[in-house]
Amino acid sequence: MTLSEVTNIAGEAGDFTVTVKEAPRYVDMDKCIACGACTDKCPKKVDSEYDAGTGKRKAIYVKYSQAVPLKYQIDGDNCLRLNAMRKGKEKLPCGFCEKVCDAGAINYNDTEKIHEINVGAVVLAPGFEAHDPTEAQVWGYGVYPNVITAMQFERYLSATGPTEGHIVRPSDGREARKIAFLQCVGSRDTNLCGNSFCSSVCCMYAIKEAVMAKDHVDGLETDIFYMDMRTHGKEFDKYLEKAKNDAGVRFVRSRVNAIEPHVDSGDLRLKYINDEGVPKEEYYDMVVLSVGLETPKHVLELAETVGIEITKDNFAKTADFAPVQTSREGIFTCGAFAGPKDIPQSVVEGSAAAAAVADLLAPSRNELTKEQVWPEERDISTEEPKVGVFVCHCGSNIAGFVDVEAVEEYAATLPHVEYVERNLFSCSQDAQEKIA
Ligand code: SF4
Ligand code: SF4
Repeated sequence: MTLSEVTNIAGEAGDFTVTVKEAPRYVDMDKCIACGACTDKCPKKVDSEYDAGTGKRKAIYVKYSQAVPLKYQIDGDNCLRLNAMRKGKEKLPCGFCEKVCDAGAINYNDTEKIHEINVGAVVLAPGFEAHDPTEAQVWGYGVYPNVITAMQFERYLSATGPTEGHIVRPSDGREARKIAFLQCVGSRDTNLCGNSFCSSVCCMYAIKEAVMAKDHVDGLETDIFYMDMRTHGKEFDKYLEKAKNDAGVRFVRSRVNAIEPHVDSGDLRLKYINDEGVPKEEYYDMVVLSVGLETPKHVLELAETVGIEITKDNFAKTADFAPVQTSREGIFTCGAFAGPKDIPQSVVEGSAAAAAVADLLAPSRNELTKEQVWPEERDISTEEPKVGVFVCHCGSNIAGFVDVEAVEEYAATLPHVEYVERNLFSCSQDAQEKIA
């Protein structure tokens, strides 16, 4: 179920009723073949959440190119036509996506749906959101364009990002020559953000980004400013040593106390106290903030609604010897909701949660199993063979070059052909179901 949100969990272990709110997609998932024609024509551009605001997306879009299922959706808040419909306007603008969608997948009248699902156990794996450093004014985030978060820098590093992997300054597009990474932004800092915990992943991702950036720009200097590097994990410390000794990443043990603009050059002056207590300052093209992990507000609201206890750091409360069991029996958790952690640890916890569910539900196993009923078999060895032919237009990809109607007519004249049909897109879900 996509674009969906759990709003309530009623009942008890072994017999829960989960209420799920499914937002309208305005695109029929069975018909959309992800051709992208709608996005090309859509005139409305907004900041891309996936690019962390470093690039733009259209009002009809796919969240990212590896999205599963790969189906487009309309952002109802930004679509010109849906906004006019919501305001009750008679004359509706735009509608280009509907005009160019050969699959007929656009449905402006789609609505929110509420589902109630009966389950024996629940695993809450809502993930995390990155700390927003805007409020802590010392970093200059949101004020100086060349101060960005690590999530944004990740997009700059990516070949599918806004600069196609070129490390350039947001302020003037000039290639960066010296970049500072600041650790523990939004973590281990009760003064600026109230988060006392270590986010556990930022040291490793900062080292990775600093090493990768050097591969992208010849002669680039990358300096990491830290309190202490927490590279726990298999071979992680070896990676740190390689970054230091082979890649030439500089590690500066320090406390940064200010970032200031240097005249109008776009350069940034970093002021810090080094580990001997001496005040220092250095100049950088860009500053990357290694932001920490937090539980999203809507997840905290859900936890309150369903009666899950939360720690003082806003993570799901679990026990040392039952790390995936929440405070409510039958509801489990895994990943960053139980505390910040990286992907391998989250995967291990996912397996642990699945095992805990299997353990809880083992006594009821097979109670709801339905026997598969197959069509009765008959002997066809003496019958004539029968062939079905499905001619695909592939939108205009095939139909634009091949006379598909003539192909259909010709196929019908061939021996043993019993059925011929043309499909706009034979790969679409509704065509597949028809063929089956
Ligand atoms: S099939 Fe229609 S909705 Fe899907 S990507 Fe193509 S044009 Fe857009
Ligand atoms: S109706 Fe217009 S603005 Fe809305 S998604 Fe389609 S093309 Fe974009």
